[in-house]
Amino acid sequence: MTATSGIRGRCAHCQALLDLEPWQLNAMALQEPFNCNHCHKPLKLSCPAQIKRLKRFGGLAGLRALMLVLCATLLLVTLVLEWLGLVSLAQQLSLSALMLLGYLLVMGIARRRLRRPLQLQAG
Ligand SMILES: [Zn+2]
Repeated sequence: MTATSGIRGRCAHCQALLDLEPWQLNAMALQEPFNCNHCHKPLKLSCPAQIKRLKRFGGLAGLRALMLVLCATLLLVTLVLEWLGLVSLAQQLSLSALMLLGYLLVMGIARRRLRRPLQLQAG
């Protein structure tokens, strides 16, 4: 099994959905053509709107890490506040639940964006 990025693209020649591999994403970022896995015809990403979307995908891994750090920090802070007696256990639990909900919401939106395939152009 090869590692895929979770990002999909639609071939301009055969309309097949491709699971894009990291090297293919690199080629796209550099605007270098690469071959379709299905019909082996050259493809590239040249539409500015699609390139913008590709760049946003790159930020997704960073977003996930940021959200995890944020969650962990808030959980720790509420734990300490509860320990110091500044917030009640119920408040601490509801804050933690809210944070978890926020995390799931943000990642859900991000993942839904990821699922829409990139429209690739003939290279
Ligand atoms: Zn193709």
